[in-house]
Amino acid sequence: MEFAGTSIKNERLLPGAGFVGGEWRGADSGGTVAVVNPANGESVGKTPMMGDAETRRAIDAAAAALSGWRAQTGKERAAVLREWHRLILENAEDLARIMTAEQGKPLAEARGEIAYGASFVEWFAEEAKRCGGEIVPGVRRNTQIRVTREAAGVAAMITPWNFPVAMITRKAAPALAAGCTAVVKPALLTPLCALALAALAEDAKIPPGVFNVVTGDSAKIGGEMCANPAVRVLSFTGSTEVGKKLAAACAPTVKKLALELGGNAPFIVFPDADLDLAAQQAMLCKFRNSGQTCVCANRFYAHESVRDSFVEKLAREMRSLKVGDGFGEGVNQGPLINKEAVEKVRAHIADATGKGAKVVVGGEAHELGGCFFQPTLLCGMRDDMLATREEVFGPVAPVYDFQSEEEVVARVNDTPYGLAAYFCTEDLGRAMRVSASLEAGIVGVNEGIISCEVAPFGGVKESGIGREGAREGMDEYTEIKYTLIGYCGEAR
Ligand code: NAP
Repeated sequence: MEFAGTSIKNERLLPGAGFVGGEWRGADSGGTVAVVNPANGESVGKTPMMGDAETRRAIDAAAAALSGWRAQTGKERAAVLREWHRLILENAEDLARIMTAEQGKPLAEARGEIAYGASFVEWFAEEAKRCGGEIVPGVRRNTQIRVTREAAGVAAMITPWNFPVAMITRKAAPALAAGCTAVVKPALLTPLCALALAALAEDAKIPPGVFNVVTGDSAKIGGEMCANPAVRVLSFTGSTEVGKKLAAACAPTVKKLALELGGNAPFIVFPDADLDLAAQQAMLCKFRNSGQTCVCANRFYAHESVRDSFVEKLAREMRSLKVGDGFGEGVNQGPLINKEAVEKVRAHIADATGKGAKVVVGGEAHELGGCFFQPTLLCGMRDDMLATREEVFGPVAPVYDFQSEEEVVARVNDTPYGLAAYFCTEDLGRAMRVSASLEAGIVGVNEGIISCEVAPFGGVKESGIGREGAREGMDEYTEIKYTLIGYCGEAR
């Protein structure tokens, strides 16, 4: 079928309704909201404007489905998750096209995200079989301590627009693998991918009520998720500002919290770095998703002895970027998500240049207009500029100078955030020393792409609580029970 100027094969991926208790539902009010392609401002579909009542129903459905799902063996749940994984891959091209249409990222990147998103479903399908426990020798004779990991209960999930598939699978797959049931609220800007995942969950025979998706009013849906005592886990990915509000709203019902929040990642180029490699990794790290990722380098620190060479190499690479509609041939920089994002980028550049920074590449809105912005390289940055403190979330690479290792580590750690940090060096001692001193949950040494399903992803400080992916990803959805068994060693 024709869709947003492209074509997709599986019409089921565009249900145009929320998914509650195994049924496709509109909003009680009948209200919908348009989903807009950021590349051209055209509507590509609509999604129900649901609120608290629909969310309560989804939570009730998830609570009703919990005992049956939790009672399945890990092996049985693994089989269902493997089928979901297979269907996601089978529909990968359609999913990627839906993603580019609603989010704007280049089609090649959207394909990459589908593979990456699917990898979490595969990984946690495998982990479902390993969600065991241990027997600890008791401290008194003839006793045994049994430690088991049990499904935490109904898990509510709130996800952002920048990775419309992966941010959902990274949460839902471990939750379902552990035996939890899920209610997902995707970002209002990118709900179509979430609903497509629900259609595939239905096809995979994930039982009704185990995976639910509600779209609409974030305050009402989020309010119900936080207040409802049946929800035992709230997993949120998004800004630190909203994460703090949700954490406070969950306090009265003392939920388990998993928070993947904002970042302010530094990328340090030491004097002993391989500068070609540094520029290449900086490009991967900075310009994926047009700079709109939580782990994008936000601040580049180049040692004064290599600064000019690094800037020259980075500028050369940046000039080869092709900006345009994500469906365009060879395009590797799509539009920003909306006009507010463009304004934020503009404000960061104006603040920096007003305080003395120099524009080396770009600096302006792109001639394509709308939400397109030129990849921008700024030099002569100072620590009192806006870009030092806030996530720019756009295609801007600000470069700062530094003189010593001790100085740069202190400066990059001087932020409330602590998600990712990167540095380039050829010195093993420095690699060990600096990675130990960085206040971050994730460190990339000579590597700009750090996320994969087998490694624990998450932040420290105001970048979050908990980890996604890896073995640790299951911990967010399990509770530990300790059972003391007496009189088990001798007959009475
Ligand atoms: P956001 O404004 O915090 O929104 C994230 C999600 O929260 C959306 O679904 C949004 O719904 C919802 N939301 C907003 N206000 C809410 C409220 N009062 N109650 C309940 N839900 C609410 O963040 P964003 O702009 O979408 O995403 C960008 C941010 O996410 C950046 O800070 C980025 O660093 C962070 N992020 C972090 C990670 C990570 O793994 N650490 C990954 C990706 C992104 P609506 O769409 O309806 O507003």
